[in-house]
Amino acid sequence: MSLKTPEEYVESLRALKIRAYVAGERVDSIVDHPLVAPHINTVAKTYELAHLPEYREVMTAVSHLSGERVHRYTHIFQTPDDLIKKLQMLRLLGQTTGTCFQRCVGLDALNAVYATSFEIDAAEGTDYHQRFLDYLRWVQAEDLMLAGAMTDPKGDRSKRPSEQTDPDQFVRVVDRRVDGVVIRGAKLHNTGGINSHEVVVMPGTGLRPDEADYAIACAVPADTEGVIFIFGRQSNDTRKLEDGCDIGNPRFGVVGGEAMVVFDDVFVPNERIFMNGETGYAATLVNYFATWHRANYGACKGGNADVLIGATAKMAKMLGTDRNSIVRDKLVEMVHLNETTYASAIGSSAMGSPLPCGSCMVDPMMANTVKQNITRNFYQIGRLSHDLAGGFIATLPDAKTLENPEIAKYVEKYHTAKPEYDAMERIRFGRYIENATSVTTLVEAMHGAGSPQAQRIVMTGLANFDDKIALAEQVIHGVDDVPTLALPKSTPRTQP
Ligand code: SF4
Repeated sequence: MSLKTPEEYVESLRALKIRAYVAGERVDSIVDHPLVAPHINTVAKTYELAHLPEYREVMTAVSHLSGERVHRYTHIFQTPDDLIKKLQMLRLLGQTTGTCFQRCVGLDALNAVYATSFEIDAAEGTDYHQRFLDYLRWVQAEDLMLAGAMTDPKGDRSKRPSEQTDPDQFVRVVDRRVDGVVIRGAKLHNTGGINSHEVVVMPGTGLRPDEADYAIACAVPADTEGVIFIFGRQSNDTRKLEDGCDIGNPRFGVVGGEAMVVFDDVFVPNERIFMNGETGYAATLVNYFATWHRANYGACKGGNADVLIGATAKMAKMLGTDRNSIVRDKLVEMVHLNETTYASAIGSSAMGSPLPCGSCMVDPMMANTVKQNITRNFYQIGRLSHDLAGGFIATLPDAKTLENPEIAKYVEKYHTAKPEYDAMERIRFGRYIENATSVTTLVEAMHGAGSPQAQRIVMTGLANFDDKIALAEQVIHGVDDVPTLALPKSTPRTQP
């Protein structure tokens, strides 16, 4: 069985000699950097839980390639049960860490490239899928963490990739050689990018036939010459440099430690190229990736929201409002919003259907509905948490105040609510709520896996309004007792 321990994961990162910049400075060892370490701790949990017998079925799966038990984060979805177990894994990890655990992007990238390379080969007679299978076997055997790199900077949004003043605004091939290609450009918002072993590069949009240079999918080791990681900022990130209660979530990061990844003329050998110029399949790949990833949000945010709801409920106890019927109703509303998105995610997986390659795709209408609801429900859950926790999460003095005996006594005295609860406990929970509803966290819920409008475009295409009109006509005119269109089931599209 090839499952890394958390320690092996950390040591394997230490062995990588990546070019990384954090807060403007080149960092030789990201593992030891206080702004990056919390994100590494979060991913380490994905490795740790896979070794616990009670989570074996959720955290691991049997590889359809090797027959070996591998980490579920390297597994190709074979059945609806696989898709559901993935969501259970995400909710478990969300509950355990209270934040984003990053590996899902690489997992969905693996699955998207697996499915798309199969379809390209079937139609074009290429050998991308066989190359990819070799790559996948290695990823599974080594239990690697992958960063899925899809979002291009995009430059002028009114122009296509080939129309940009700066052609590097979308990752592209700038040189073709007998043994491979050279790529240039950047990918933004790469979750876990800086603490991954490999970067899986994918097109970020559908392409026209004259945009072949942008139709590139490949895998690049993180320490390849020309790959540069520029770590992003997060709300209150420098609190990670402090000790004490102001950190909020003391062991883990805020969201996924997103990074810009620059490809400054990076050579990619042929065996790591899985699409090279087949423009007609760029949209297929984007669509597969986005559909799987959108379903995830009902589970990972579900786990995060479980922690936030718990923190809010504890806050109500400390305030002495927990028996108030209005407060209880608002807590129930938070649960309702959370379970609604989780239920949709489970539904999208239970209704999964096979792709041509044999792997299993979630129901796309439900998956997009999950993510659409997350862009609202997660904000609403945060709003209710702020409502119940009170304004003090925005006005609390800092932890240093509590170290000054001249004033600490006043802060503690006047932040004590119910006397049986220590003021410090209330402050800790307040800081956690502040952290878990920060701008970074909410914006990630809005734009991760695509902005709300991206989901609505897909939903518009799948909505089948003509079929719904036909149903209405049958009912209203009484022409048929049993609708011929009963149990409509949306099917994966190849164009977003
Ligand atoms: Fe996974 Fe959720 Fe983070 Fe995406 S946002 S990588 S689905 S934990």
